[in-house]
Amino acid sequence: MKILASVTREPGRLSLEEVELAKPKASEVLVKTIACGVCHTDAAALHLFIPVTLPIVLGHEGVGMVEEVGSEVTTLKKGDRVILSFPSCGKCNYCIENHPYACDNLNTLFFDGAYNDGTKRLSQNGTDISSFFGQGAFADHVIVDARNAVKVDIDSDIDLAYLCSLGCGVQTGAGAVLNRINPEKGSSMAVFGCGGVGISAIMRRRSQDAVQ
Ligand SMILES: [Zn+2]
Ligand SMILES: [Zn+2]
Repeated sequence: MKILASVTREPGRLSLEEVELAKPKASEVLVKTIACGVCHTDAAALHLFIPVTLPIVLGHEGVGMVEEVGSEVTTLKKGDRVILSFPSCGKCNYCIENHPYACDNLNTLFFDGAYNDGTKRLSQNGTDISSFFGQGAFADHVIVDARNAVKVDIDSDIDLAYLCSLGCGVQTGAGAVLNRINPEKGSSMAVFGCGGVGISAIMRRRSQDAVQ
């Protein structure tokens, strides 16, 4: 199908273009993008401070509505509202041991913009275009593996745009406090930079102190 996407073809530039999006494969879903956060990792990749395979569609804090599911997908259905997060292969030792953030295939899935079968879902005139973090959510539609789409199971009135940062910034900041630092109540913690990651670290710390 034809979609509109913000394509990066050279460092520092974004251009809105019509591109071709393939159909979802067996483990994947087609999502209509409703909103996408802008993470510092998008900015770093835009300027190739993080090496990515060009051309690429950035955006990795997407939220949206499922429009189509692949034949093997059992966890999601058409009409589900989803938060998109980072991809993982589901097969390496890190994934099997419940540490998908350290997946052996991280570089391919995050930065080369390919999917688990090694192929890409975006193209233009027969030339492949990469999908950042298995999403490429600076576009009106994306294909994601069902592994990196989380169903939003709360009040249908909520504006999904408020949930974008859950896909990356919130879990990065809150996760660092929860799973790494795990500070004792009353101890001090310094946060340098208060964007989505930093604010999430502070919010997690405050909620942790409140219950200890
Ligand atoms: Zn991010
Ligand atoms: Zn893996």
